[in-house]
Amino acid sequence: MFTNIDAPTMREMNRSTVLNMIYHYDPISRSEISRKTGLNKTTISYLVDELIDSGLVVETGSESSGQPGRNPILLSINKDAGHCIGIHLEVTFLTAVITNLRGEVKFKSERDLDVADMSGDSLTEVLAQEINLIADQAPESSLGVIGAGIALPGIIYSDTGRAELSNYGIADWNIEESVGRQLPFPVYAANDGHCGAIGESLLRHAKDLVFIYLGYGLGGGIILDGQIRKGVRGVAGSFGHTTLYPMGIQCSCGNYGCWEQYASGQALLRYLHDERVADEFQTANRDFFQHAIHTVKNHSEKYERAFKMFGRYLGIGIANIGSSLNPETIVIGGALNEAADFFLPEIISVVERSLSWANQLTNVITARQDAVPIGASALVILNTVLRSPLVNPAYA
Ligand SMILES: [Zn+2]
Repeated sequence: MFTNIDAPTMREMNRSTVLNMIYHYDPISRSEISRKTGLNKTTISYLVDELIDSGLVVETGSESSGQPGRNPILLSINKDAGHCIGIHLEVTFLTAVITNLRGEVKFKSERDLDVADMSGDSLTEVLAQEINLIADQAPESSLGVIGAGIALPGIIYSDTGRAELSNYGIADWNIEESVGRQLPFPVYAANDGHCGAIGESLLRHAKDLVFIYLGYGLGGGIILDGQIRKGVRGVAGSFGHTTLYPMGIQCSCGNYGCWEQYASGQALLRYLHDERVADEFQTANRDFFQHAIHTVKNHSEKYERAFKMFGRYLGIGIANIGSSLNPETIVIGGALNEAADFFLPEIISVVERSLSWANQLTNVITARQDAVPIGASALVILNTVLRSPLVNPAYA
């Protein structure tokens, strides 16, 4: 991570605090910021002037205070002041988005990418090239492209910042530095499930949230008290490898009966094979997802049964997460969400049946489309625009 090694000054920290307030409580008045932060009004006026000069903040009219006299002027984020690039590297394809500072997608591209035999060096080249091409598509803005975030199906070790992608046979890959060296803006990388959690938490202003990512496998991320929980090695949220059946199917991780063997793209494909359909697919790739979504929507009984089975097993694991972490919201992301009508009711019914009091306040919902690449973009917003050691550095 390209961090500024000098400690931030008090003024920088205060400015970041004010900006975070405007980001999360938009639109908000100067006096309300003072009330929420305890900073005095003179300091806030000064910092807000700096933020307006930087182009990040705009005045957006006034709110009736109900009191006689002048109504306070409200402040908002200038959401199109700059753009961020979010990349999601999946096992078989790559999705890229350009978002504004509110995570709204301005451009999207998707392509197959076979990285099975690539080294860290060649993947570095591919990513740098891809990001350079995407950056050319960014709309004009005063701050331009602020940075790029990369969501990976692997581990970013907390102590070294180096990535390991076991699906690609890549270990000890210094991704942020090696890709960032070839670009004119900083690069941040995180596990795909962590990116989804960061994005959904930032854009929903949710402080206690679990994100489940359904792709080829099943990943996730945990936000508690507004912070991503990475764990001692950086693998917190790897729910796919929690055991559902000790005597179950063997998993790629070496254990038996992992949850992702029963609830993932690959598991859905197996349920369909059990129904003697989808034989033309051997792996849960992008074509398979599109085919499965299309077919289940066309009232295929076999597909409906397979999706229901998939939903049931998802529900069992989700109920476990609800009981152990008691989040406000569990958000499910991934391409299969387009067919959520065929598995979400099953999840909710399993969660309700296994209901402990802890689950009663937990909502299970689907994520926005492209939650993971948008989350990669949110990683940039957090680490650049909103960065502060004091306020909600959800991924630092
Ligand atoms: Zn496993």
